[in-house]
Amino acid sequence: MDGASQSFEVARERAEFLRGELERHNRLYYVEASPEISDREFDGLLRELQDLEAAHPELVRPDSPTQRVGGEPLPGFASLRHAVPMMSLDNTYSLGEVREFDARVCKALGVELVDYVVEPKVDGVSISLRYEGGLLRVAATRGDGRTGDDITANARTIRAIPLRIASDAAVLEVRGEVYLGHAAFARLNQEREKNGEPLFANPRNATAGSLKQLDPKVVAARPLSVVLYATGELEGAGWDTHAELLEALKGLGFPVARPWWLCRGIEEVIERVEELQGREGELDFAIDGAVVKVNEYRYWRQLGATAKAPRFAMAYKYSSEQAETRLRAITLQVGRTGVLTPVAELEPVPLAGSTIARATLHNEDEIKRKDIRIGDAVLIKKAGEVIPAVESVVLAKRPAGAEPFDLFAHAGGKCPECGEAIARDPEAAAWRCTNEECPAQVRGRIAHFVSRRAMNIDGLGEAMIASLTTKTMVQETVDDGLFGATATEVELPPIVRDVADLYALKPKDIELRRPNRAADAQQTEMKLASKLCRAIAASKNNELWRLIHGLGIPNVGEGLARKLAQEFSSLDALMGAEAEALATVRDVGAIVAASVTDYFARAGNRDVIEKLRRAGVRFDRVEKVAGGGNPDGYFFGKRVVVTGTLEAFTREEAHEALRQRGATVMGTVGKTTQVLIAGASAGSKYAAAQKLGIPILDEAAFIRHLE
Ligand code: AMP
Ligand code: ZN
Repeated sequence: MDGASQSFEVARERAEFLRGELERHNRLYYVEASPEISDREFDGLLRELQDLEAAHPELVRPDSPTQRVGGEPLPGFASLRHAVPMMSLDNTYSLGEVREFDARVCKALGVELVDYVVEPKVDGVSISLRYEGGLLRVAATRGDGRTGDDITANARTIRAIPLRIASDAAVLEVRGEVYLGHAAFARLNQEREKNGEPLFANPRNATAGSLKQLDPKVVAARPLSVVLYATGELEGAGWDTHAELLEALKGLGFPVARPWWLCRGIEEVIERVEELQGREGELDFAIDGAVVKVNEYRYWRQLGATAKAPRFAMAYKYSSEQAETRLRAITLQVGRTGVLTPVAELEPVPLAGSTIARATLHNEDEIKRKDIRIGDAVLIKKAGEVIPAVESVVLAKRPAGAEPFDLFAHAGGKCPECGEAIARDPEAAAWRCTNEECPAQVRGRIAHFVSRRAMNIDGLGEAMIASLTTKTMVQETVDDGLFGATATEVELPPIVRDVADLYALKPKDIELRRPNRAADAQQTEMKLASKLCRAIAASKNNELWRLIHGLGIPNVGEGLARKLAQEFSSLDALMGAEAEALATVRDVGAIVAASVTDYFARAGNRDVIEKLRRAGVRFDRVEKVAGGGNPDGYFFGKRVVVTGTLEAFTREEAHEALRQRGATVMGTVGKTTQVLIAGASAGSKYAAAQKLGIPILDEAAFIRHLE
């Protein structure tokens, strides 16, 4: 080898190394969000590579990080037809319509419960990236969904977009959203202000404006980012579920928007949709809602799409609007744990399509922090269907003599519901009514017990609970057989004092106390009352976690209730558990353990539990999920993946059967997978398992091994 070719060889190796490093750091920065080097060090490496490539032009490759700096200005964008159209999404501002969407999906699929993925609806500009043999070939905007603009030159400048991925798929189109992070947007506008350029209204406008630049160098100077959440045309790649896709995208080096959740059923979806809204502040990108997608792709094929939008997805948009009004008064609401929640009574004001007369003030500390005073002009904010809240005070309009708010004084030291003393709970930053028999607490406990995520007793609304728990005057028709029927007023005592009393209710008790009772409609009233009684009776056989959750033990939500049920298998075992034993359960810390033992130590709670037992409520219905199973069984302790279509099971049923036998169900085939169960038309996972030499069971073998 002569000197020149030797130095070329050195340069080639160095360039190779630098490319690898630059790619790795890009990935650490954009995908893992844990950079190892500073931006300056990154630029240093990039500069070195540029110099090498300038000295040896033969080394330049289209996927080199140096190609991100932007090429020559374009005369215009070429049009590009999407092989698979980029659809829009049906959207709604109403959680009711999200539930209707679920009802349609379930009906069309003929199933009762569907798994969904909830992910952020990123408010950016959509993009489609086409990789061929792992190389980024084309980037396009959505356009009208069928044809978009070819913005490949601009997309290359976006560091978050990998120029090369570890996939040899012939075609892999991924889709997502280009956005400008909050900090990047602020910096961009600062700079524009300095330069006397017009400011961008919001990050979305700035992103759209940047991508439309014909000069890629300008785009390169804008710190755009991207998240991916979908695929377009695929050849030689495929996934079974959306959750798997999101994991796989990350594995391929694409940024994926966090957080996202895989949810069982629509109620969990709704919780996550609300949680996401609360976490908006944590995100670097703007969101305008949440997207709910059916998880299983075979269902996508079954559901199909309308001309405009797919039937397997729905966007729930957060509407966020403000209005100014006057705070007329502050009332105090008593919850099931006795906490007094201050509520703003407002001069009614139209906001986001409804009239707002009340809004939450959260707690006393919050009122003090915002210095909200009765009589103030206040700004009300309503975001989505979250309860409207008082955002801030318009100080300039504060009336003379407005006093700082003091909850204890405002309440006169007494619970507004029962008149008993209130006390400050230092842990909860709240004032509490100390009377456990407070009617508001009783009502709250019952409402919680019957709620959907607890005992799930349908048909017991707030008004019905109120009339069961208080004394009620009713019209009773008495026929004494002598003078004929006469109507008299009768006072009925409260019939439900605790959750166990529900199980003693007779249809007649309910019928008499039904709010808005129509005396002439006794037939239908009785039917409804009987139905409610049947629902109450049916709940006796509920799974244990529902009962534990329904009891309303402080600090024990649904998730913990499920864990405790799994761990202890019966209410008696849980009641008998020492705090130390409780604290060893995963996710149960000392506080929860103390809260559980405190709860069961109280005589009043024990009485209610004994009443429930006598009423026939089951204390031991536990369907073992993980950790159960016969240790001699084939699947016990194994890591198992299910793929393809099974005849005798849905995917969920197969997972459930495996978990019951002590297996861990995994979503993707990897080195640690121990068994693959492959139904009909299994695809990439089958191949992967074969390659890794993992035992593969067909459905018949699966069924044999279950037994
Ligand atoms: P719309 O423009 O209101 O019809 O909403 C559809 C658009 O939302 C899509 O074309 C995407 O650009 C965008 N979008 C943002 N986040 C997501 C996501 N997680 N899943 C699907 N689409 C999303
Ligand atoms: Zn009270």
